[in-house]
Amino acid sequence: MMHRRGNEASLRYEARRQREDESPRLHAEVPTLESLKLEIEERRGNASNPETTYIRRIVVESAPALFALVCGERDCEDGGHDITYAVMAGLRRGSTKFEGEDVCHGSVRTTTCGRVLHYKATATYRP
Ligand SMILES: [Zn+2]
Repeated sequence: MMHRRGNEASLRYEARRQREDESPRLHAEVPTLESLKLEIEERRGNASNPETTYIRRIVVESAPALFALVCGERDCEDGGHDITYAVMAGLRRGSTKFEGEDVCHGSVRTTTCGRVLHYKATATYRP
């Protein structure tokens, strides 16, 4: 059982890495982007206070144009937050501050995960 899970995890990791490798680079998509910071808050679906908060600084020169964040729920399977579309839309608009939410659709044992991720993006651009 443990063995099978381990294999699945490494397969998922491989798929994720492959996707990152195949994605266009961020600087190619938004050439004027100078810096990007994401403030992430995660909470369980029914809680009002965030359980996890962290800041992710994106290395603009080398990062892929892909924002797929893992779910913070330990037992969540096939979950995660792909905010690529929303973040890229904000950057293409040239927004310096924008935010949004994403609900995890993974499963925790017999129910859906439903963990809510809230992100606040702060970006700067070259003139
Ligand atoms: Zn989840």
